[in-house]
This record gives sequence, structure tokens and C-alpha cells, in this order.
Amino acid sequence: MKTKKAHGLLLQALTGFALAALLGGAALSDEAAPPPAGEKEPAPARAGAAGPVERATVGAVRFLSSRNYTRVTIDLSRAVLYETHRLKEDPARGLPPRIYIDIFGAQLGAGSREPIPVRDGLLRQVRVGQFSSDVVRVVLDASSVVSHQAFLLPDPYRLVVDIHGKGDSNGPAAAPAAKKLAPARAPKGNGASEIAGIRKIVLDPGHGGKDPGAIGFGGIAEKDVVLSVAKKLARKLRKEMGVEVILTRNDDRFISLEDRTAIANAENADLFISLHTNASPNGEARGLETYYLDNTTDEAAIRLAARENGTSRKNVSDLQFILSDMVQNMKLEDSITLAHRMHGSLVAGMSKKMGEVRDLGVKKALFYVLVGARMPSVLVELFFITHRDEGRLMARDSYQDALVDALYDGIRKYGETATAMKTL
Ligand SMILES: [Zn+2]
Repeated sequence: MKTKKAHGLLLQALTGFALAALLGGAALSDEAAPPPAGEKEPAPARAGAAGPVERATVGAVRFLSSRNYTRVTIDLSRAVLYETHRLKEDPARGLPPRIYIDIFGAQLGAGSREPIPVRDGLLRQVRVGQFSSDVVRVVLDASSVVSHQAFLLPDPYRLVVDIHGKGDSNGPAAAPAAKKLAPARAPKGNGASEIAGIRKIVLDPGHGGKDPGAIGFGGIAEKDVVLSVAKKLARKLRKEMGVEVILTRNDDRFISLEDRTAIANAENADLFISLHTNASPNGEARGLETYYLDNTTDEAAIRLAARENGTSRKNVSDLQFILSDMVQNMKLEDSITLAHRMHGSLVAGMSKKMGEVRDLGVKKALFYVLVGARMPSVLVELFFITHRDEGRLMARDSYQDALVDALYDGIRKYGETATAMKTL
């Protein structure tokens, strides 16, 4: 078996070279490789792949979790090569099932390195240590058999590890989330109805806190407009559809993109809707567009995603290849349907209110905030805040109310489509 393993590692090393070329440092995962026999296995020498670069510093480790899902995020000072491994339970040594991540060319940053207790039913704790002079190892001690998926996001660099319970089907049927995490939470709906199994929706008002998003005509900030629209939409959904609605933020605060998705996953939401306003250096640009997550070659969509991701255009196009596995695991068909329902309602509803709107269509792009979402998920760009008329109108209550009515209508239509599909 030694030969086979060496072969597996060689393949990984080659993948690592390819990715290193893309990222200047890189990510790779070992899903196809056989797991090593134990933690004593030396990690393969990998420093050469990244070249003679400064070592990455491994910073804070945090997590968001529920009973059947945990997202662990590891802060990094720069891009890294990493490998994930899975270890079976070892009763003889009193060891639980483990997942460990070796981060190459890395050193531990300052701060406490005590084990971080999680105890959410999936993970017991997270341990971080300097495994060798050049390798930092992060060990996730599991409580049960889990599956995992890891990916690297830039600006700032962080390694995100999603952990799922084995019983977790990729959908909303699993048990409700434990109340371990504390996202901005609002009262439950009146439970009057439930359309096509939609019982919980996470609305994500983009940006917040130190990140104002786009600044529009007359100094209006995207973060304020989308928060106001999200709150109004939440009220309407609770009241008229009787669903539970959770906002990723209820006030003006900063939340990382990966934490927003983690809230939706941990809450086991049925839909995830991220609300933004569009912006352009061209003051004439206007209209509505709605996005779902997928790879694209469209230059404008890549530039928009770069702006919303807070990263460069190059990082977005590079990451497309690395994240394509993640995209394929998602509810793509449902997300496309949701995007079309919401977009159609927005264009129709706002045309009625404003006389005419520019329909920029349903598009795809790599938005970090949608990566790893386990439910139908879309990102809506509500008009151009930088356009003289659209920016001014979006600050008005009556136009926000019209947007809310149109968004609500789209969600309801999606629910009805899903119902019709289920009863075929
Ligand atoms: Zn935005």
C-alpha cells in the first residue's frame, strides 16, 4: 500500500504545482488519496512547490455551528498549500475520528493555542499546533463520522472547512439547527402557511459596519439601503407567508462573507437571498440583475463579483477553477429557478412603479457569499445606487416598499413552482 500512497501523494503534489501557479501559493484537497495510517505520518515535503516565499502566519481559528453543520475558518497571512486528511476512530488509543489539515510553509501566529471547544454534536474541539518547522496542523476532533470540504478564500486569506454530519442530506429535511450560534434573530412568523416546504428563509443584507458597499448618488450607502429593504421584506414574509425569517445582520455591523453562508447552513434554511445594490463608474448604468453562483467568462460579471467579494478580478477568475467542485455540489437548478422567479417579479413589479426599468437579466458569477450554501441561493442587485434617478429613488420608502412587494412576489412564485413540481 506504501507505493499506492506515494503515488497518490505525487498526484496531489502535481495538482499543488498547478494550483500554486494559479494562486502563487495554493490549495489542494486529498479527497482521492488514501488516508494516512495515523497522525505520526510525516507530511510530504511540499515547501518546494510554493517556492522560496515568506512563511504564512496562521492566525485566529473560529467556527459557526449547529447540530449537523460546522464551518471552521482559519485566518492566514497569505495563500498556502494545504492538505486535508481523515482519520478513523482509534479506540485503542482513545482517539475520536479526526480530520486534520496540514498547512505548508506556515507558522503559528501569536496568541493562545489551547484547544478550542466546539461540542456541537459534530466536533468536540479544534486543536492547532506547529507540527514541524514548516507545517502547521489543524486537527478537528469529531464526535461522530463527518464529511468535510475545504477551500481557500483571499483578501484576507482564510481557509474555510465545512463539516457535515453523515446523516445530513444536501437539503432542508434535516433536523433544525441548534441554537448555538447567535445571528441577528427576529421573532418567528405566525405559521399561517408553508409553501412547498419553505419554512425558513435567511435574508442577507450585503456589507455593513466598516464595509459600506457602494456609495451612491448623494452619498447614500448600499449597506443602509439593503438593510432597510431586508427588514421590510422579512416583516412581509413573516406576516403574509408565515415563514421564519432570519437576517444575517439586523443592524450596521460587519460580518464576513463566509459567516453569512454559515448562518444559512447552520440554520438549515430553505432559501438564502443576498441583497445588494449595483454600482458603476459609468453614471448612466442602470437596471436590475439577479445572480446565482456558477463559473462565468463574462467580464462584467467577474468584475462585479470582484467588487462584491472585496477582491481582485484576477482572484475571482483564478478561484473559479478551484471552487468548481463546490459549485457542482450545490442546488444549482433550484437556484437558477429562484433567480428567474425573483428577477421576473422584480422587473415586472418595478416597471409598473417606475414606468420602465432596464432588464439586465439573470446571470451567473462567483460570489463568495454563495459558496457552500446548501440551499437554493441567489444574489440580487437592486438597481444602480450610482445612477442619478435610481440611487435617489432607492432611498425613498415608497420605492423600497415596491421592491419588497416584488421580491416577495418572486419568492412566493418560486414556492408555487416548487409545489407544482412536487405534485406532478
Ligand atoms: Zn454589494
